[in-house]
Amino acid sequence: MKLLFATQNKNKVKEIQNQLNGSFDLIGLTDLDYFEDLEETHDTLKGNALQKANFVYNKFNLNCFADDTSLEIEALNGEPGVKSARYAGETKSFDANMNKVLDRLADKESRSAQFRTVIALVYNGEKHLFEGVCKGEIIKEKIGAEGFGYDPIFRPDGYQETFAQMNMALKNEISHRGIAVKKLINFLNTLPKS
Ligand code: IMP
Repeated sequence: MKLLFATQNKNKVKEIQNQLNGSFDLIGLTDLDYFEDLEETHDTLKGNALQKANFVYNKFNLNCFADDTSLEIEALNGEPGVKSARYAGETKSFDANMNKVLDRLADKESRSAQFRTVIALVYNGEKHLFEGVCKGEIIKEKIGAEGFGYDPIFRPDGYQETFAQMNMALKNEISHRGIAVKKLINFLNTLPKS
């Protein structure tokens, strides 16, 4: 069954394809030659995920899902939050975003943080939501070269490595998006095969 992931981020398509074990033919927006930014004008993850999934469902007439993720840092009152991609400006630079977090945390005691993902699925016109959370802490410098975004400064609870030091399989096992995707896949597996 063909399923469209409403993202242009090839890393994310790869991560999720890896978890689907071939049960769905997962494509991303770049596979449809769609390169425009999707609008995210809401102030909640749920609002943005639904906005993107609805837009893409109506545009391509394919069952699809969209995700929205935030990094939420306790000592920064939940920042970067829903604006995680643009924390240090419109260029969406991963490096600049991490530098801003490290600067803001320089004089803080607590470095607790969590990633949260909401996935919105639009399937035959019906909407479904799935959420995943991964708790951890922000370390003091960037370590590791895998992954993307804030991975080099986020160490999940119970591990010695940052997300950026983990292979994709381990990150998928424990990450916010991995947990939300498992819920999505469990749901998809309950649907009658067409
Ligand atoms: P998005 O909603 O998935 O685009 O995520 C918003 C921003 O959060 C991204 O631009 C990244 O900076 C960050 N982000 C999302 N997922 C991850 C992840 O798995 N690791 C690190 N950063 C992430």
